[in-house]
Amino acid sequence: MARETFPARLLKKVCLSESAQCYHFEFELVDRESFVYTPGQFLSAVAVDGNGKTQTRAYSIASAPAANRFDLCVNRVEGGFFSNYLADLPEGAVIQIHGPHGHFVLHQPPVEAIFVATGTGIAPMRAFTQELFPETGPEAGADRSGGREIWCVYGTRHESELYYREYFERIAAAHSNFHYIPTLSRAPQEWTGHRGYVQHYVGQILAQREEVKGKTPPVPEGAAAEFDIYTYICGLNNMVSEVRNLLAEHGWHRKQVVFERYD
Ligand SMILES: Cc1cc2nc3c(=O)[nH]c(=O)nc-3n(C[C@H](O)[C@H](O)[C@H](O)COP(=O)(O)OP(=O)(O)OC[C@H]3O[C@@H](n4cnc5c(N)ncnc54)[C@H](O)[C@@H]3O)c2cc1C
Repeated sequence: MARETFPARLLKKVCLSESAQCYHFEFELVDRESFVYTPGQFLSAVAVDGNGKTQTRAYSIASAPAANRFDLCVNRVEGGFFSNYLADLPEGAVIQIHGPHGHFVLHQPPVEAIFVATGTGIAPMRAFTQELFPETGPEAGADRSGGREIWCVYGTRHESELYYREYFERIAAAHSNFHYIPTLSRAPQEWTGHRGYVQHYVGQILAQREEVKGKTPPVPEGAAAEFDIYTYICGLNNMVSEVRNLLAEHGWHRKQVVFERYD
């Protein structure tokens, strides 16, 4: 049975990268005053394609809850239907969605966290970061992480694909416990920042942390697991698998690793 959908109007669309054809979208629900979800969750967008077939795709919500509004971050996938439908959507157009869905959410109460994303996988990390470090509203400027160390390791090929870079740099400048680590896999010679894959920098964070705190001790079978750090990974399957393997090699429990795969 088809799920009930509800309409959302595109208020604003911004091209984040011409070369990667990635867009930031701001929507508002047409006939609802609030959209209740937990940062990190995704919604399903529904549209009919050129052959009259109903298509549904998942998109991570790229913002923390704010009344009836939500943001998305979507890049065109060559030959794909839905990503191109959204990328071509004019401001003012209405789409159908259902949700929220998913379990890619922050552990509560907050503990230390490593966010690992590539490409548009940064979308839920933006929602997490907005939730932890609000810039507007009554708690503007607060640190809802309780001063915990939060790392955001973000990998793309080129500098022009560091989506929301200014936002993450601003949060890192305002909160010394938020560490933004963007890395380029195809950096030009003049790039003075980090180079290579996210795995390398996650490995560095783990090694530094182990030097101070020691390795994560194994959790006995059947014991209730309490952890002082979680890793949240979002992006394409290859990267997600590699980071999960790395964490397993460092003795991390599977419940300490929360992930969302886009493909
Ligand atoms: C839980 C979840 C959340 C998601 N959130 C986002 C999001 O926030 N932003 C976003 O852009 N996409 C997101 N996706 C991917 C999205 O659902 C679509 O798969 C994507 O937009 C391609 O849809 P399409 O109809 O254009 O292409 P399709 O015809 O569905 O796919 C074409 C091919 O591209 C592959 N593919 C899918 N996604 C990508 C990608 N991002 N890069 C390269 N290849 C890909 C597919 O495996 C397939 O082989 C998410 C997926 C899931 C499961």
